[in-house]
Amino acid sequence: MQFFENYSLFPFNTFHINVKARLLARLQHETDVSSLLQSAEFKNSGRRLWLGGGSNVLFTGDFDGLVVKNELKGRSIVEETDQHVILKVGSGEDWHETVRFAIENNWSGIENLSLIPGTIGAAPMQNIGAYGVELKDVFHELEAVNLTTGKNQTFKNQDCEFGYRTSIFKTKLKDNMFIESVSLKLSKVPHFNLSYRPLHDFFKDTDIANITLKDVSDAVIQIRESKLPDPKDIGNGGSFFKNPTLGQMPGKMFLEKYPEAPYYQNEDGSFKIPAAYLIQECDWKGKRVGDAGVHHLQPLVLVNHGNASGTDILNLAKSIQKSVFEKFHIKLEPEVNIF
Ligand code: FAD
Ligand code: NAP
Repeated sequence: MQFFENYSLFPFNTFHINVKARLLARLQHETDVSSLLQSAEFKNSGRRLWLGGGSNVLFTGDFDGLVVKNELKGRSIVEETDQHVILKVGSGEDWHETVRFAIENNWSGIENLSLIPGTIGAAPMQNIGAYGVELKDVFHELEAVNLTTGKNQTFKNQDCEFGYRTSIFKTKLKDNMFIESVSLKLSKVPHFNLSYRPLHDFFKDTDIANITLKDVSDAVIQIRESKLPDPKDIGNGGSFFKNPTLGQMPGKMFLEKYPEAPYYQNEDGSFKIPAAYLIQECDWKGKRVGDAGVHHLQPLVLVNHGNASGTDILNLAKSIQKSVFEKFHIKLEPEVNIF
């Protein structure tokens, strides 16, 4: 196992923040995991960070510890029937490449999650979701190493405590598990979910009987590209905040006061209010403080116009939280992991 000192994390985070890790290791083979766990560098590392594609992290300074860059690859079918396949994927595989692989094989379930950046191993962390589909809908199980005991553990769907952009790995087991592989249960019989308005509108003049998984994936890609900034062009970490959920009573009171506000009612009667609306109403859309900015099309996305530091982005996020709280009495919670 090779360790690199004072290693630049610039290419490894989509916000393009120019910071260094005191120590960096790259995991490329399954056997690297046990070598790493047994190494003196790991045991004496202090702070540790398991890094995938760096698309959901914000670095506010150099990382004084060990960053483990996950590059574990591999895909295999572990079960197949007439109805479904269970596909086991190495946690360092690219998420979108895996979506493409599924579509090429005509396996459905993750086409709505096209073009989400990052790795397979990070997907359970926040139960990634888009256009009405979440990872939990196709999740079969995952294998992880418990970093306290060094033992391997299998987590079934119910063990992961998946919720809205969260899981047990972001809460009770935070920083305590390294996810090595994830198995997905994909359907051989397509079940399209076109309930989100942009997707519904995209196919409104099309005979649903004639659409393919690739059509849905292409539509998602086209819609996403029309309003979301590509990190290759401008640094960002996707949605910076989660959409807030208001309980039934506070939700009703909010909507009486702001009848024009968009909202979605959850199954339990609570209300999801798009954070983008709240930010826009506080006049932040397209604003810029130095090189830290709010995207001009999607105000939920904070961007690095060039030389913003992580602290510049974080200060902007705090100012937005303050405005939203002062105007609406709603606390926006970051979705991005801040280090
Ligand atoms: P990283 O940023 O590398 O890590 C994120 C967190 O997971 C860190 O805390 C890290 O320590 C931990 N982690 C990563 N891998 C492992 C592992 N193997 N074991 C244990 N812990 C691990 N998210 C959505 O849900 N839906 C979207 O539609 C969406 N769209 C996005 C669009 C853009 C343009 C961007 C930049 C981001 C978007 N995101 C979206 C957020 C992001 O893509 C996802 O959260 C993704 O799963 C992060 O993957 P990653 O490999 O980059 O994780
Ligand atoms: P959008 O279509 O402008 O919708 C705004 C918000 O309303 C979304 O966040 C979505 O919540 C919610 N919404 C829309 N239709 C809904 C419905 N039928 N039922 C319930 N909730 C509904 O959103 P967008 O910004 O362009 O993003 C499109 C999708 O991609 C969303 O699902 C979003 O979560 C996902 N996305 C996520 C990230 C990220 O970093 N997490 C980045 C870009 C896009 P949900 O967010 O709960 O779906």
